Amino acid sequence: MPDLLPDLWFDPTKCFIAGQWISPSGGGTLPLENPSDGSVIGEIARGTAADIDAAVGAAREALSGEWGRMPAAERGRLLAAIGRKVAERVDDLAAIEAQDVGKPLKQARADAVALARYLEFYGGAADKIHGETIPYLDGYTVYTLREPHGVTAHIIPWNYPMQIIGRSVGAALTMGNAAVLKPAEEACLTALAFAAIAEEAGLPKGALNVVPGLGEEAGAALSGHAGINHISFTGSVGVGSLIQASAAANVVPVTLELGGKSPQLFFEDADLDKALPFLVNAGIQNAGQTCSASSRILVHRSRFDEVRDAMAARYAALRVGPAADDLDVGPLISAGQKEIVEGFLGMASAGEIAARGEIVADAPAGGHYVAPTLIAGVGADHRLAQDEIFGPAQVMIPFADEDEAVAIANGTQYGLVAGVWTENGGRQMRLAKAIHSGQVFINNYGAGGGVELPFGGVGKSGHGREKGFEALYGFSTLKTVAAHHG
Ligand code: ADP
Repeated sequence: MPDLLPDLWFDPTKCFIAGQWISPSGGGTLPLENPSDGSVIGEIARGTAADIDAAVGAAREALSGEWGRMPAAERGRLLAAIGRKVAERVDDLAAIEAQDVGKPLKQARADAVALARYLEFYGGAADKIHGETIPYLDGYTVYTLREPHGVTAHIIPWNYPMQIIGRSVGAALTMGNAAVLKPAEEACLTALAFAAIAEEAGLPKGALNVVPGLGEEAGAALSGHAGINHISFTGSVGVGSLIQASAAANVVPVTLELGGKSPQLFFEDADLDKALPFLVNAGIQNAGQTCSASSRILVHRSRFDEVRDAMAARYAALRVGPAADDLDVGPLISAGQKEIVEGFLGMASAGEIAARGEIVADAPAGGHYVAPTLIAGVGADHRLAQDEIFGPAQVMIPFADEDEAVAIANGTQYGLVAGVWTENGGRQMRLAKAIHSGQVFINNYGAGGGVELPFGGVGKSGHGREKGFEALYGFSTLKTVAAHHG
């Protein structure tokens, strides 16, 4: 397999703190694995609690320095400039991410493009968010100030590092916060690449600090640090709940974007030709390692066999292989993740598997490949239809009518995204209200959607909203000023 890593413009064994590239305080490193063949291709920094402490201190200092004093319009121009630099390096960033996460190149490229777009969007928004005046008693003038929280902590996963940096760090910086970013131990290269790009674009020191490291070391040190003012976390429900407990201890606001079991509902009047690519792609994109993956396909009984056969034909044509080959599906992130996903798939009997994709013959033996699997025949209460598999697998479930469709759609502990396929306008409106989730797509499915669209969950999918303008409210706090002047 060709080496996708271009000459790196940063040192992955270093942390980025106060505008300096420094070795972690313990001098430790972690192995950098290529999921496409399982080989160790380098080392990354293993940041410690001391590094987190230094990063939080640097962020605090930035708030009272050049960064904290920067006018909103200038902040916006700077973010947009970083975005343009990201756009210039899309191919390099994609190559790095493909090698680090195992994403097919096209998908890694889409993430880099999205990162640039976030910075463009938020850069343009920086000077367009403002407070209000409020009519009050005679002799008063009352207005609100929208202010940054202060130091924001960003703990992100390995599945979409660039997109999550864009939506989370991008929005936090837009509002004038100073950020400490702890990328996932499995995939921290693009976080460091981004820091280097931001530095090159002139981001004042301390505004963004990046400390790679283990979750239970650097991550726990960050989420529990008394000097932070907000936590944004994307990851598993279990860790999210720990993060919320840390936030509670320090009484700081927290945004959690956790898992999902997002359904698409296909009704008797829906257009299958239009729906089919969305039905399948939303399940297998990034090898199903997507919080907003659509892992449940609910189909009206009258169309079930037709939709299953059409999806099965697509599944049978899916090809799985190394990121560099840019096929439909790449490897999973790690051997551990592969084992978890295979454990789930082992719960389906042969008769319940409607179709499987193909792992190409020359896929390296050490890569973490799982053939995409379409499951039809397990009930809505089966674990395969309830638990987040986080792999390339979808479960199909029939329903008899609208009420049953809604009951099944709402019948998990999650609520992140839903898709509704129907030409019936009344039903579209009813379901948009009846489905418990943070986003509902009608006759399309966005897997999180564009950067403009607020995104987040209900139930165990988390709380708080990122993306769009809504994120800017979340990454800021409102101060009310009431002046009595007689
Ligand atoms: P995933 O299932 O996607 O690996 P995790 O929730 O395990 O999700 O990890 C998401 C992020 O949370 C990663 O950056 C990881 O290092 C971090 N993390 C894991 N455990 C903890 C913890 N105990 N405290 C803080 N952060 C953690």
